[in-house]
Amino acid sequence: MILSVRKVIIPVLAIFNLLSVSCSQSGGKVSSDTDSLADQNSRTAVSTVVKAKDMNFTANELGKVMVLEYHLIGYPEDRWRRTPENFRKDLQMLYDNDFYPVSVLDIARGNLNVPAGKTPFAITLDDSSAGQFRYLEKNGQLVIDPNCALGIMEDFRKKYKDFPITASFYVLPAIKPKLRLFAQPEYQKQKLEWLVKNGYEIGSHNWYHSMLSKLSDAEVQKHLSMFVKEIKAFIPDYEVKTMALPLGMHAKNRVLESKGEFEGTRYNHQAVLLVGSVSSVSPFSKDFNPLAIQRVQAGEHTENPETFMKSQIKHKTRFVSDGDPKSISAPEKLKDQLKPGLDKKFNIKWVKEEEKSTES
Ligand SMILES: [Zn+2]
Repeated sequence: MILSVRKVIIPVLAIFNLLSVSCSQSGGKVSSDTDSLADQNSRTAVSTVVKAKDMNFTANELGKVMVLEYHLIGYPEDRWRRTPENFRKDLQMLYDNDFYPVSVLDIARGNLNVPAGKTPFAITLDDSSAGQFRYLEKNGQLVIDPNCALGIMEDFRKKYKDFPITASFYVLPAIKPKLRLFAQPEYQKQKLEWLVKNGYEIGSHNWYHSMLSKLSDAEVQKHLSMFVKEIKAFIPDYEVKTMALPLGMHAKNRVLESKGEFEGTRYNHQAVLLVGSVSSVSPFSKDFNPLAIQRVQAGEHTENPETFMKSQIKHKTRFVSDGDPKSISAPEKLKDQLKPGLDKKFNIKWVKEEEKSTES
């Protein structure tokens, strides 16, 4: 019974998801829409138990989520550099294994409009080098280098319509020229505008990559506010919403990582990213903290996205969407992992694993 209903619902949700993504690309309205849906839903919140055999996959929305972390894109492959071929290979691997791109903010807010059976993940790129976004002149026209990270992602977006790629760029506005806003000074404003217009995020990596641990409280606020001021000089209406900690170093006073002010310029970060080396817990987990989100560093080392992916598939620990943004479905055995209070906002569906003896 449930299976036949799902068959009808899933294609509709898939279309809804595609629409949602294009909305978020043009105006970022999705979060408030889903919030209001969830709020309406709170009036009828229920907790139900469904059987795993009634789904054609086992939803686990308390499973792990990868926020991928990239630095340089170019040659040769190195600890902090991914080649264009390997970046492409990573995206293909994620596509082929039922991952689905979402934004860092969607993860931070727990607004996951992800098709049924898919695993959300986010892409982040730190330090704004030219290999991430490079313009080339071709026959008198300015084109995005097809071998920079953005060119590769845009190709992927065109090739796979069911994979609405997006990413957060943690840029540096006042550092040495080769890391300053993608290292082509004549195109700084044009690039920032292009990214925002096309649904990518500009995040703070602070004024010039300062280690916040070494700064006074006043200096932390200065370096984070100056980032906002510099970005607004190029794109005045843009609100900086997330921040990646340079080298993963926390400020002495961690409250100042998310909120502060310097000479009339304020910042308000809804997500703070670590330089992690593990997957994030689900945003619905009681252990999730949007102001300390773990990341997985891409590369050829042992703790890379492929390693985590294989382990999570093998042990069934990755986030698998139920396709319904109004509900949270997860194996019943993870009941104690749910963040308190979410049952007021979402329908909670506990998935009962089949007893071995009942299977024929
Ligand atoms: Zn950095």
